[in-house]
Amino acid sequence: MKVMTAVKRVVDYNVKVRVKADESGVDIGNVKMSMNPFDEIAVEAATRLKEAGKATEVIAVSCGLAQSQETLRTALAIGADRGVLVETDAELQPLAVAKLLKAVVEKEEPQLVILGKQAIDDDAGQTGQLLAALLDWPQATFASNIEIDGDTATVTREVDGGLEVISLRLPAIVTTDLRLNEPRYVTLPNIMKAKKKAIETVKPADFGIDPSPRLKTLKIVEPPVRKAGVKVPDVATLIEKLKTEAKVI
Ligand code: AMP
Repeated sequence: MKVMTAVKRVVDYNVKVRVKADESGVDIGNVKMSMNPFDEIAVEAATRLKEAGKATEVIAVSCGLAQSQETLRTALAIGADRGVLVETDAELQPLAVAKLLKAVVEKEEPQLVILGKQAIDDDAGQTGQLLAALLDWPQATFASNIEIDGDTATVTREVDGGLEVISLRLPAIVTTDLRLNEPRYVTLPNIMKAKKKAIETVKPADFGIDPSPRLKTLKIVEPPVRKAGVKVPDVATLIEKLKTEAKVI
């Protein structure tokens, strides 16, 4: 069974991003970029399936700028066997990414595609669902456990107030939640080994896909600064203030 994972290059989660002065987006010049954390979990899950003898090959796919090669190298260092870069300078939105991933799926014919539940830069949380719809495949989103048995996947999903266990017929789409696993630490020997693994580069035009954005961003602004709170001496004063000042009770 071939497993494909989708990995996005995003601003590192430790970086505090700044909004550009013209409110057109966030400033990512000279900012540390990393693999989207949920995608690391996806690559780890695929690698564990390979180590357990359930997967025969793990492919990592990234769509975006040429620098996404670095993200693919990280995926190869975690354990993916080869990478595919769909290289484009276009501003990619989830629908375009889903179309590009669909094209790669049709070429590679994986039985399982694992994506992150959301990219931490745009927080769209749409690509896996769109890909499942475009392929007309079953999907299990927010997975905290994946079991593969023959052509069936049993996935535990994190839902409001508990866990849901569902069974899917492969081929299928799975998106990862935080508790699915803890990605391994990427070691130097594995980084060196990853350098020898192949990364194929293709362009959206090779698949006849126009990745241009369909949604227009009107503006991006900083969240409003929270006003400082006040300390009250006792419960009676709190209740009084809630009644007379906040007027909520
Ligand atoms: P989103 O719908 O943008 O929140 O992204 C959800 C997931 O889709 C991510 O965690 C990735 O697995 C995948 N994805 C989104 N954008 C890309 C991209 N440019 N290249 C590869 N995978 C992507």
